[in-house]
Amino acid sequence: MESKNLQHKKLPLGFTFSFPCKQTKLEEGALLAWTKHFKVRGVQGTDVVSSLRKALQKHKDIDVDVLAMVNDTVGTMMTCGYDDPHCEVGLIIGTGTNACYMEEMRHIDLVEGDEGRMCINTEWGAFGDDGALDDLRTEFDRELDLGSLNPGKQLFEKMISSLYLGELVRLILLKMTKEGLLFNGKVSTALLTKDKIEMKHVCAMEKYKEGLSNTKEILTELNLFPSEEDCIAVQHVCTIVSFRSANLCAAALAAILTRLRENKKVLRLRTTVGIDGGLYKTHPQYPKRLHKVVRRLVPNCDVRFLLSQSGSSKGAAMVTAVAYRLAAQRKQIDAVLAPFLLSLDTLREVKNKMRAELEYGLKRETQASATVKMLPTYVCGTPDGTESGKFLALDLGGTNFRVLLVKIRSGRRRSVQMYNKIFAIPLEIMQGTGEELFDHIVQCIADFLEYMGIKGARLPLGFTFSFPCRQASIDKGTLVGWTKGFKATDCEGEDVVDMLREAIRRRNEFDLDIVAVVNDTVGTMMTCGYEDPNCEIGLIAGTGSNVCYMEDMKNIEIVEGNEGKMCINTEWGGFGDNGCIDNIRTKYDKQVDEGSLNAGKQRYEKMTSGMYLGEIVRQILIDLTKQGLLFRGQISESLRKRGIFETKFLSQIESDRLALLQVRRILQQLGLDSTCEDSIIVKEVCGAVSRRAAQLCGAGLAAIVEKKRENRGVEHLQITVGVDGTLYKLHPHFSRVLQETVRELAPQCDVTFMLSEDGSGKGAALITAVNLSPGS
Ligand code: ADP
Ligand code: MG
Repeated sequence: MESKNLQHKKLPLGFTFSFPCKQTKLEEGALLAWTKHFKVRGVQGTDVVSSLRKALQKHKDIDVDVLAMVNDTVGTMMTCGYDDPHCEVGLIIGTGTNACYMEEMRHIDLVEGDEGRMCINTEWGAFGDDGALDDLRTEFDRELDLGSLNPGKQLFEKMISSLYLGELVRLILLKMTKEGLLFNGKVSTALLTKDKIEMKHVCAMEKYKEGLSNTKEILTELNLFPSEEDCIAVQHVCTIVSFRSANLCAAALAAILTRLRENKKVLRLRTTVGIDGGLYKTHPQYPKRLHKVVRRLVPNCDVRFLLSQSGSSKGAAMVTAVAYRLAAQRKQIDAVLAPFLLSLDTLREVKNKMRAELEYGLKRETQASATVKMLPTYVCGTPDGTESGKFLALDLGGTNFRVLLVKIRSGRRRSVQMYNKIFAIPLEIMQGTGEELFDHIVQCIADFLEYMGIKGARLPLGFTFSFPCRQASIDKGTLVGWTKGFKATDCEGEDVVDMLREAIRRRNEFDLDIVAVVNDTVGTMMTCGYEDPNCEIGLIAGTGSNVCYMEDMKNIEIVEGNEGKMCINTEWGGFGDNGCIDNIRTKYDKQVDEGSLNAGKQRYEKMTSGMYLGEIVRQILIDLTKQGLLFRGQISESLRKRGIFETKFLSQIESDRLALLQVRRILQQLGLDSTCEDSIIVKEVCGAVSRRAAQLCGAGLAAIVEKKRENRGVEHLQITVGVDGTLYKLHPHFSRVLQETVRELAPQCDVTFMLSEDGSGKGAALITAVNLSPGS
């Protein structure tokens, strides 16, 4: 750094480390064992990158960021791969020997994921450590091994690499001399000295023209007195040892090439092997021999051998450059998603604010301006099992309209039988006139009555209407304002029961007795309350988001009377419409809000419910694409379409059972041409959005159960929440995260979540039954 004048300059660093390491990431590697001549204590089993980082910290004038650790084989492959994209094998024949190659992810059990490839560092130097090479190893190999730093280890390497070649030659010459075959049987001290013959000597002795004279010189230096025949014999020994090395290396490489060919399912493989290492580079015949043997062993592979000119470190720099680019991208993505990560403190704050809004909605002075409207429902009790009869129920949610026939039996054989039909509400009806909407509803009822063959019967009817209504009695409900996807004219401020009655009259075909208008939260609570009397809360996480609960009459200032309880429809979707949670709203939430039918309204609902989650994801994807982080920076036609990213796709993409390839297919079906990396990012975005939704919903619910606990004046509350809604039911993580959040934020409440299997329509029938039964 000093000599290149790079002090105090922040630089990313790549570390080529040519020893076997177990990596779980690019910038981490635990040394499995030292090889070659290294034996530093206290390193084996530790992460060498963090050791390097620690050592770097001691130098205040050096500011580098270790981003990647690569094996020298990998560095070599990358270096050569820069010049030749076919390069998918890296080979080292130097002090040690080793190879790496690109393996299919689906074959790598140790790493998650099935798509694409990953470079595997084989560490083939250890081949034979289990005895597999025993019938090839000679007495000289055994002797060399016993005198090495790591006996019994790296047996293949010890037959091949330059660190051991010279020593093998020496051991052979020594034995031959002792047996009187060389130097007149006269051994010199030098010949008896370990490692006296080195690779460079072997190379020199095998040189074409000067080989023999080199041999004579080298032997003389070893204080031996070689004859002409001695020199020829010694040269022959060198050739045998180095040729065996090339043969063994070729055989191992042939195994890798065969593997690649089989992975690719091709008859002929065309590939490039990047090579580095002193033995290969300096030995006069080594490359030629190696190439020839490889071609003989795998005749169906066209192999190009590419010498790494700049060593393995250029490759390490290349890997680092890629890691650097990815790290920069990661920072950008993290920055985009950071506002979606809510701390426990933030969630607690949300809970407290919700709690305050609940109080405002109940108080006479503040209720008119409250954003959480806390609408009285005139439902004062849960079913007790004495209800019976035949009822018609309507369920107008945010997406579907259901008509039901519900038969309730009381007594010992109490039961509920239901028949229902689902009708779609076309967009032009949702956003047409009120008259058209209610005429359509009556048309659906007529179809259903005909379908059931009960057209003449005048049945009592309960109407589940999942929009905020101000009620003056159980069968009167004035629509406060449309939410979700509805915007029919001439309805707001009108009584929906009256509008339904008029539509029935207009049709003049049948008559019905409308007994109750019920919010879907209330219907859900009643349905679950029929099974579990402890159910005093109803939660919806579907197209929209809402909650109701049984409140003490004495706390409901706008309704006369202090005895007993009444169910309050909180309409908590409007939470935040006064700006109180704007600190956690992201720019994406604001974009979704601006594009909605009711801008500025239902801010909490727009962060938590099915109608909006996909749209939030779409806004984030557009932003990430604009930043060049997704879809190659190209905003496709389909990504521009509002609503194309439905919340059901979040469920599919986030499903743990789904492989990346399937995520990619889903995106492709949406017209989003994604790479593997794109799919990972999209999945992450979906996860951030749905998790925040579940946490916010949990924070709101924690406020409700805490209020219930304080109402009852108990230390610990046991309570059941009835839940309905497709988001809650079908999203793979929403319900779990919601429950975890409630547990965390309301630790004194033991909350049971009960899924309403039959929807809120059954509840409407039960309320109708309760209100028809004698005495009510
Ligand atoms: P509603 O709330 O209209 O009465 P639902 O409870 O069935 O009806 O909710 C419908 C909403 O659920 C849809 O608007 C959609 O946003 C969402 N949704 C549909 N399918 C899924 C799914 N597989 N995972 C999560 N959400 C879904
Ligand atoms: Mg519903």
